Amino acid sequence: MQSLTDTSHPPDASSEADPEDRNRLVDHSTPMKPTRTRHFIVQLGCILCSRELGVFDTLAWPVHGPVVLVQPDGSKMQIADWHRLRCDNCGGSVLPGEITVEDDRGEPPHDWSEDRPRRGRPPKRLVEQRSQNGSTA
Ligand SMILES: [Zn+2]
Repeated sequence: MQSLTDTSHPPDASSEADPEDRNRLVDHSTPMKPTRTRHFIVQLGCILCSRELGVFDTLAWPVHGPVVLVQPDGSKMQIADWHRLRCDNCGGSVLPGEITVEDDRGEPPHDWSEDRPRRGRPPKRLVEQRSQNGSTA
């Protein structure tokens, strides 16, 4: 009769605890992605008269959304789409000239030890059941 109750509960606890422990080890041994932001500094110029229209800073390149253009005189201008910009001088199309990639690392590194989940141990109840099984068998 007792052997029936022994086989009724699946060995869930051990199979669940293992991968979680492994994940925690991987987190510590592999270097995390550096917390720096890559951004692109794009210079826009007219293709006809090569007049400089300004510079904008973007986190993704190519960009199709709104950007803030810093004009040569230092004033900032929000533009919805730089593809639609036209040269003030001759009305020519605008193309990106020099594109500079910069890496910012202003943020402090994240403290992963505070985020660690406090799980992974099998419930006490299961441990007791297992030790009981061992003693009765
Ligand atoms: Zn022009």
